[in-house]
Amino acid sequence: MDEDVFDAIVVGGGFAGLSAAYRLATAGRSVLLIERGSTCGAKNLTGGRIYSHALRALLGDRWQEAPVQREVKREVLALLTETDAVTVESTLTSAQQESYTVLATPLLGWLAAEAEQAGAMIVTGTTVDSLIVRDGRVCGVRADGDELEADVVIDCEGINPLLLEREGLIRRLDPHAVAVGAKYVYRFGSSEEVDRIFGVRPGEGAAVLGMGAVTQGVFGGVFCYANTDSVSLGLVLDSVGWKASGRPILDTAQALREHPALARYVDGGELVEYGAHLVYEGGYDTLPAFSGDGWLVCGDAAGLCLNRGFTIRGMDYAVLSGIAAADTLIEAGPGRPSAQTLAGYGDRLDRGLLRDFRATRGAHDWMSSTTDLFTVYPRLAVDTMAALYHVGPEPLTPVGTTLWRAARQLRKPVRTARTLLKGVRTL
Ligand SMILES: Cc1cc2nc3c(=O)[nH]c(=O)nc-3n(C[C@H](O)[C@H](O)[C@H](O)COP(=O)(O)OP(=O)(O)OC[C@H]3O[C@@H](n4cnc5c(N)ncnc54)[C@H](O)[C@@H]3O)c2cc1C
Repeated sequence: MDEDVFDAIVVGGGFAGLSAAYRLATAGRSVLLIERGSTCGAKNLTGGRIYSHALRALLGDRWQEAPVQREVKREVLALLTETDAVTVESTLTSAQQESYTVLATPLLGWLAAEAEQAGAMIVTGTTVDSLIVRDGRVCGVRADGDELEADVVIDCEGINPLLLEREGLIRRLDPHAVAVGAKYVYRFGSSEEVDRIFGVRPGEGAAVLGMGAVTQGVFGGVFCYANTDSVSLGLVLDSVGWKASGRPILDTAQALREHPALARYVDGGELVEYGAHLVYEGGYDTLPAFSGDGWLVCGDAAGLCLNRGFTIRGMDYAVLSGIAAADTLIEAGPGRPSAQTLAGYGDRLDRGLLRDFRATRGAHDWMSSTTDLFTVYPRLAVDTMAALYHVGPEPLTPVGTTLWRAARQLRKPVRTARTLLKGVRTL
């Protein structure tokens, strides 16, 4: 074996890259991870809530030492008009939900320390400029004027895999498959204050997902998570619809912070962090090739993020794809794996997380073409609730009449029913 050639070079120290590096290092493989941020976690933005099955798959029971924030025990779905909301809420104290609110920076910093302890070499503050390609095979990377060689390069660059794109190895990012996300973090004086705001027992977590007037008819949604002593509030907007609306995203974000149904979660908190980032949401039919000669691609770079409106999941898929990439190399044994061996990574994904993507393959198209979801239905829900609880000088309106009047507000009830049925199937 050539001492100067790593078994693998991983580009990017996010969830995907660190998972691949950790897994390879624990199997005794020589792995170099290069991250352009000053630390792992410095450049990452997420909502976020992570489903812990992925952390368990990576770390076994030790995942419980990971610096996650709160276990989600209260779920709230909100339909928003300009000023009001109808919410559906569940308090899942008995169910084992196994999802946790997280802040990316501490979690990724911890994961990086774990990977280093396992033997991975991590270089931060360095950008990989290009791939070394010889005779059509990826053999390493160029960074900071150095040429670094590896049997395999694992691309975990995040949503914009420019290195692979420049070499023509992956399809160009389609704007229709991309949303734009913005997020604020508000810190509170104590964790008790966050308990009180979300109405949860001490230390329990809450997740609020909403859609409606805040995005002004554009396909998108809002999220609000209870962290230990802070609250994450943000939105995800379809990039094409947002561009067509001509509205600055800062205005939309401002409307989000001022909405009465959401402001109650952040009022009194100190704004300590904010940022914006792209979110992949194209779904199964937009996914790229997952491997080639000398390379694999994981996480957001491979389009492995699923937006179903009421959940966004990218972190757990990033971890799982990092594991799958590492396991493909571990199973292949020492030396340079052939392109055919590396294609086994796609088969692993196919038997694993891609089942979720296949099951929801029409979801993105349905949500992006059903604008009533973000305008008509929230308004209808709010008006109906207002009518049900209205008491005035006139005689009471029977529930049936209230619901009938609501149904008549729909322009084409039969078509609406058909559309909703289609949505239920695709989501
Ligand atoms: C607003 C928002 C809300 C979200 N909410 C959720 C949620 O609640 N739950 C959930 O599961 N997912 C959520 N996601 C999606 C989730 O954050 C991503 O799917 C996940 O972070 C992807 O991880 P990754 O490792 O693939 O990419 P990233 O986390 O983006 O990591 C890529 C890393 O590569 C580095 N890098 C890039 N290029 C280079 C280079 N040339 N050289 C060196 N380093 C490089 C970057 O600095 C970065 O650290 C959300 C995303 C956004 C934006």
